[in-house]
Amino acid sequence: MPIATTDPRTGDVVRTFDALTPDALEERLARAARAAATYRLTSYEERAGWLRAAADVLDRRTDEVAALMTLEMGKTRKAAAAEVAKCATACRYYADHGADFLADEPVDPAEVGASQAYARYQPLGVVLAVMPWNFPLWQAMRFAAPALMAGNVGLLKHASNVPQTALFMEELFREAGFPDDAFQTLLIGSDLVERVVRDDRVAAATLTGSEGAGVAIGRTAGESLKKVVLELGGSDPFLVMPSADLAKAAKVATTSRNQNNGQSCIAAKRFIVHADVAEEFEALFAKEIAALVVGDPMEDGTDIGPLATESGRDDVEALVRDAVDKGARVVVGGERPDRPGWWYPPTLLADVTDEMDLYLEEVFGPVAQLHVVPSAEAAVELANATRFGLGSNAWTNDPAEQDLFVRDLQAGAVFVNGMTTSFPALPFGGVKASGHGRELAAHGIREFTNVKTVWVG
Ligand code: NAP
Repeated sequence: MPIATTDPRTGDVVRTFDALTPDALEERLARAARAAATYRLTSYEERAGWLRAAADVLDRRTDEVAALMTLEMGKTRKAAAAEVAKCATACRYYADHGADFLADEPVDPAEVGASQAYARYQPLGVVLAVMPWNFPLWQAMRFAAPALMAGNVGLLKHASNVPQTALFMEELFREAGFPDDAFQTLLIGSDLVERVVRDDRVAAATLTGSEGAGVAIGRTAGESLKKVVLELGGSDPFLVMPSADLAKAAKVATTSRNQNNGQSCIAAKRFIVHADVAEEFEALFAKEIAALVVGDPMEDGTDIGPLATESGRDDVEALVRDAVDKGARVVVGGERPDRPGWWYPPTLLADVTDEMDLYLEEVFGPVAQLHVVPSAEAAVELANATRFGLGSNAWTNDPAEQDLFVRDLQAGAVFVNGMTTSFPALPFGGVKASGHGRELAAHGIREFTNVKTVWVG
């Protein structure tokens, strides 16, 4: 994939970049290793200060960075600005709490026959992050803020279609005052990722992206016995039971499925509705979806812009066509407009069966699928009938059903009567083919640390 900014509104290539040569990559790795040797000795107070400065830079440069993200991958300016603000919040969150999360954990010395004993969290060294384009700043920050606070040095290999946002990340940390090379962006294609993961100077890796990329990096990390965190795809269920506030559920369902132009790993993708309210929910949901404004993501008032890439748009179109050919009913949308750029309309499909490809695949675009079930137990069974396990949504005001969903949904998160999202203060990650390891909260900052046992006689 060429490293380039392509405007998804038109398909025009705006700017291209040369990938690092092997020699230049070698030099970057050497610089990262040198930085790691001294950065690990900086104090939590210093790192917190730099993170707060990074948050201030983000606040100051919000408009510029938001416009860049919109240009590179098509999300609305409003969503992009909110993403920048969320990144600033994450920087401040780890500045405020990082030292507490990583404080020494004493144990009773008498229990282990010592005069002192404790667990200490120490940085691993250089960590590679391979990141996707869909939340180009947030995904990278979710890695960078805790990793830097823990004393690790970061290397970012970003998706090839967001090179300018990737370069901004490096500039951001430099402008915030972090030591030289504490964070570097590597403009490389995915073909060089294996080489970086295998390099002895790199201690660990994390990837947010598709299952295929997760398998590739997981295999390489396994072969080189390195820690890896994987944040992969999802096909989140959204359960609607008769006691739910249906109007609110339909509104949130619409936002959840169509946020980020339908390209979110934790977007609700499969809507599983109790038969008693199926007709009413379908009508409400269809009305909300049909009201979404599709248009130029740079303009105020737009809800949905184009998809980020041509291949992504083609994949979505193929999944819808396959479903319709096999009997799915198009309630809203379903036809791509004949215009330049990577547009696909918000779409609602009903009568979806397990013969259709989208029943099992992740649909990475604004396409919702409706399923009707006879009971809460049947809803759980269908919700779990997927290889993914990222987030899940459950809408019910019945306490027994809430308990059932919290207990039995196979997912890294369950949100009851609200939209699945990420917060710096809550752990984020998946089970099954959605990956392993956690980002955010205390869990995320500890992923790339050596939990060192200290025993003093
Ligand atoms: P992708 O194609 O897997 O790309 C993600 C990153 O991996 C890019 O930097 C890409 O580089 C690189 N990559 C691709 N193939 C690779 C390989 N074989 N070896 C090493 N690196 C490789 O995914 P995407 O299309 O950008 O993102 C969409 C996917 O990410 C969806 O499945 C979505 O659900 C998932 N996602 C998950 C989370 C989460 O937190 N769980 C969050 C956001 C997105 P190039 O761009 O150079 O190919």
